[in-house]
Amino acid sequence: MKITVVSPVYNECEVLPYLFDALPKVLAKLSDNYEIILVNDGSTDGSDQVIRQRAELDSRIKLVSFSRNFGQQAAITAGLDCASGDIIVVMDCDMQDPPEMLAPMLDKIHEGYDVVSCRRTGRDGESIFKRWSSTAFYQVMRLGIDKRIPAEVGDFRMYTRRAADALCAFREQHRFMRGVVAWLGLKEAILPFHRPARAAGQTKYPVSKLIKLAWTAISSSSPVPLKASSYLGATLGDYVGRVFEESKHRPLYVVSEVCNVDQSPDQPRALWLDATDGTSPIRIEPRVYGPIALPSSPRKVG
Ligand code: UDP
Ligand code: MG
Repeated sequence: MKITVVSPVYNECEVLPYLFDALPKVLAKLSDNYEIILVNDGSTDGSDQVIRQRAELDSRIKLVSFSRNFGQQAAITAGLDCASGDIIVVMDCDMQDPPEMLAPMLDKIHEGYDVVSCRRTGRDGESIFKRWSSTAFYQVMRLGIDKRIPAEVGDFRMYTRRAADALCAFREQHRFMRGVVAWLGLKEAILPFHRPARAAGQTKYPVSKLIKLAWTAISSSSPVPLKASSYLGATLGDYVGRVFEESKHRPLYVVSEVCNVDQSPDQPRALWLDATDGTSPIRIEPRVYGPIALPSSPRKVG
């Protein structure tokens, strides 16, 4: 049984030595046949150099280097495309996805699951904003977009070969792996874990990138925002229609007859027709907005 680890790398030269130290040891205990595919997502800090040096010493360590930064989701896709294992793991390279989880994940695969996902029950080393925005993100996704997307589950997952093949069949430009996995509906186990702080370096997800990923997640998983915007468009259209109606300055009402009313109220935009005795033709004066004086002797009831 061959295990492939796929890990996206973006400016992580500080953290890679920790990964190279820990991951091979864990994998060696699980299988004598494994590969680690590191997808360099356009790093500018020499991460590719660090990986290349390691790959020269160990052929199980493989490098796929992008020409520029295409994003984590594209890097994961490239890694899955190249994976030759029977079991495939996707994990971050900064040690926030602990290699020790691989053994219990593999147990779940042996139990018959196609996908084993890890749920973050706690997080270290992340700002309050990041934790808050992450919780809010999953709530929005689950309530408004796709309730199949499990809360607090990132891309740290183990797949069977057939699950990985199914994922590779999705070639959309704006992809959100978690949404695709949820859509596939494969048999999924979820294991809890406490997410440690990254071993070194800084997050590669500034707020702008987080927002972009969140929007990709929402827009690629559901037409709800598009529908909402067309409803909003219709609502705005209704407002414009009302302004148009208002611009006509039509009277608010037209009175054609009165009984026991001596005087028309002194209100603008009210059209009172000349109603003398009912025999004379009704005189419509559409452009008169103020009150028209009623005849001096209005009809009495009875
Ligand atoms: N990453 C990537 N491309 C990017 C941003 C991040 O390949 O444009 C990688 C990064 O090197 C790491 C993983 O994606 O392996 C998660 O990134 P990070 O740890 O910065 O995210 P966080 O854990 O802070 O959400
Ligand atoms: Mg991280």
